[in-house]
Amino acid sequence: MKISIIGTGYIGSVTGACFAEMGHQIIFVGRDTKKLDLIKSGKSPIFEPGLDQLLLKNQERITTTTDIADAVRNTEITFIGVGTPPREDGSSDLSQIETVSHSIGKALRSDSKYHTIVAKSTVLPGTIEDLIIPILEKESGKKAFIDFGVASNPEFLKEGTAIEDFFKTDRVVIGAQDQKSRDLLEKLYKPLNVPIFKTTLRTSEMIKFASNAFLATKISFANEIGNLCKELGIDSYSVFEGVGLDTRINPKFFRTGIGFGGSCFPKDVCALIAHAKSKGITTKVLNSVMEINDDQPKRMIALLKKHINPKNRTIGVLGLAFKPDTDDIRKARAIPIINMLLKAGARVKVYDPVAMDNFRQQFPDLHYTSSASEVLTADAVLIVTEWKEFENLDYHGKLVIDGRRVEKARNEAAIYEGVCW
Ligand code: NAD
Repeated sequence: MKISIIGTGYIGSVTGACFAEMGHQIIFVGRDTKKLDLIKSGKSPIFEPGLDQLLLKNQERITTTTDIADAVRNTEITFIGVGTPPREDGSSDLSQIETVSHSIGKALRSDSKYHTIVAKSTVLPGTIEDLIIPILEKESGKKAFIDFGVASNPEFLKEGTAIEDFFKTDRVVIGAQDQKSRDLLEKLYKPLNVPIFKTTLRTSEMIKFASNAFLATKISFANEIGNLCKELGIDSYSVFEGVGLDTRINPKFFRTGIGFGGSCFPKDVCALIAHAKSKGITTKVLNSVMEINDDQPKRMIALLKKHINPKNRTIGVLGLAFKPDTDDIRKARAIPIINMLLKAGARVKVYDPVAMDNFRQQFPDLHYTSSASEVLTADAVLIVTEWKEFENLDYHGKLVIDGRRVEKARNEAAIYEGVCW
């Protein structure tokens, strides 16, 4: 199949590389020629384990362009993978979706074949029908589902294990109204041999939000119980190991700590809350999910202050990325934690194996060290991301506040506090 991928960020680049690996011809469409040049030369524009190798291996099947029209005309299916960042009030900023829809619509005008446009970006229920289709129809002068197809195919992969998640996903969700687009997507994903769930456009859009909201709820629920466990002298890690053994519950995304960050959970839960509010619906559970999540970093600083006044002291931060194996710092827990440390008058020393360049753009004045062990020379150390290499440090004699349960630190540190254990 000939496939266009619009957007070369975390989702676009992984999706395109994985489709290429499946034997398809891919045209990546981006705005940044430097990123496109990287892709063209078989290098990933983002840090994602295995992505470089996949792009390099499939170079022959990959081309790049900045011209959406060119890509649409030369392919039969276009995946929209642009960003849907949060606005100040938590609602979804759909301007990137709007912009590319205008360009795709214009391209469709002179495209004589049946082309299918797929929203892979996370968009609120109704976005395809109420925003994307009207733009496509207006710009193309054509009718959706008659002259061109439109579908929803939300993505569920996790940064850090994105490629494995793509090929071994629990399910593929296809939202479609026209048979041609449904069949095309089914044919595309069939070789993965995973469950394919076919539904309507709106239901598919909602499945993505409901999934993220539920996983975020699991984490905040664990943290609420975890905070109580700490107070009662109970190890919340053991509690959730035990609870997770119940197959109705499942152990995944059920660990206590400083909460969730990243480009998806906070953004998508807030967008759902804002969307519900605009429809007059109050989201009591989701409001609490965000409230608990916002409080967990504050607990970390409160625990630190129990042992040391951070004013004019050097506090080390291990980990800046929102999770291990990514350089993504969007809504990372390190951001509120470091802001609180700076506000308290601390000197902040940080280390992350891959996310320091991204973090430096937001926090240029921190002390960025060249190794994790250098961070351990600080007066106290906060473990914010559970990178594997932090399991091999020597924590003897250190004051450690742990947000992610690093067992070696727990066993060795002179003074050790876990956020929920
Ligand atoms: P991102 O910011 O990393 O990538 C978006 C890309 O779109 C950027 O490279 C940007 O330059 C490009 N873009 C924007 N406007 C463009 C235009 N007019 N023409 C060409 N390119 C354009 O974002 P992301 O993390 O890849 O997320 C993309 C979407 O996928 C979002 O809706 C997100 O919610 C969803 N999603 C992300 C993840 C994840 O783990 N990152 C997982 C599932 C779903």
